Amino acid sequence: MSATTGEVRKDRSQLRQKAMIADHFTRLSLCRETGEKNVYTYVPGNLTELLRSFGVLPVLPEINALQSAMRGKSREYIAAAERDGHSEDVCTYVKCDIGMKRMGNIGPTGERIPDPDLLLLSYTGCFTFLKWFELLREEYDCPVVMLHVPYQGDGDVTPAMRTYVVDQLKSKVIPALEAVTGRRYDEDLLRENLARSAKAEDDLVAVLQSAKQVPSPIDAYFGGVYYIGPIFSAFRGTVEAVDYYRELREEVEERGRLGLGPVTPDGEMGEEKYRVVVEGPPNWTSFREFWKMFSDEGAVVVASTYTKVGGVYDLGFRHDPDHPLETLADYCLGCYTNRNIPSRVDMLVRYLEDYRADGLLVNSVKSCNSFSAGQLLMLREVEKRTGKPAGFIESDLVDPRYFSAANIRNRLESWFQMIEQRRSGDGSGA
Ligand code: SF4
Repeated sequence: MSATTGEVRKDRSQLRQKAMIADHFTRLSLCRETGEKNVYTYVPGNLTELLRSFGVLPVLPEINALQSAMRGKSREYIAAAERDGHSEDVCTYVKCDIGMKRMGNIGPTGERIPDPDLLLLSYTGCFTFLKWFELLREEYDCPVVMLHVPYQGDGDVTPAMRTYVVDQLKSKVIPALEAVTGRRYDEDLLRENLARSAKAEDDLVAVLQSAKQVPSPIDAYFGGVYYIGPIFSAFRGTVEAVDYYRELREEVEERGRLGLGPVTPDGEMGEEKYRVVVEGPPNWTSFREFWKMFSDEGAVVVASTYTKVGGVYDLGFRHDPDHPLETLADYCLGCYTNRNIPSRVDMLVRYLEDYRADGLLVNSVKSCNSFSAGQLLMLREVEKRTGKPAGFIESDLVDPRYFSAANIRNRLESWFQMIEQRRSGDGSGA
């Protein structure tokens, strides 16, 4: 079931994923020679099945930023962007991306990322997406197309909202892809891709929901970010994604049958002492250290909102090949970043109950207003509705200056004590 590479144990699915991602970056680096086209677009609201139906390769700037951070490159990239005048308050994904461009656009695998043939802004709730592509528009000589996705202000998707998005797909996005590639829109190809997406989504949901078991065979936050990698980035709708998620599901189900807990970078986790839900993105610059703060305490994340940022599948949505453009619209409208605060609170309450969790932890990242705005209010509401203790920590996505290990460790320790006190009947939480 697993192989060993260096000091870190890797399951077969992890090795497969690593190879998929490496191949993708190599293919991108060769675009100039092969003539393959690429489109820069964002994770939430990505239209990968449509892009792939045109034979286009997606480039996700957020993924480049987080991978650069995990490889220790983000500090210098952010510094380069700040030297250019980008303020400290700007989302660090943006600065990391701009800095990477300044320093030669070398991607996380050390290969050059090609200039985009098209900037496809699928706008799903985060205003920074707009500003980010405004900056990239100045950098690259290529067309830009925007898909405007209405915000779920009332927590619902109406037929008019769906029609509005479908109309833009027909009148703006598809013509832009036809112009860039010289190919005609092929709905049959799109349907085939969407059918494969639905298959992979079924398997991903089974993996994430395996955490309802006690002990949980997975960590749905730290491990979860690896599980969502292919489907949230360039691979939704591909044969590779179907194979990866089938294999991953088999591995996780096997761990569940054997009663095993998650595998951490330091090996098998010990006894499961705390089951927790996490809201907010992880810190990427000290990812392993951050994870260890949980695993050392026997804390397993059984559900997280971050693993829904590229698609909220566990609440039932699947891409539907019978309604190709409508399903793409529904996907964009349902993105986590496009949901209002009451919907996010409902989701967290449901996770705490369904996954029999001991408490909620909010990791408030400095960069991301899209996630952070309203988090304290959400925390209080979830505490009130579930009676379970909530903890609050602060860090950042890819800026190492905002990761204070001692601070976070202290706050986590207090929160674990609160959980213990609640268990032993002393609800003071002091
Ligand atoms: S503010 Fe948040 S959602 Fe928006 S681009 Fe930055 S990290 Fe992404």
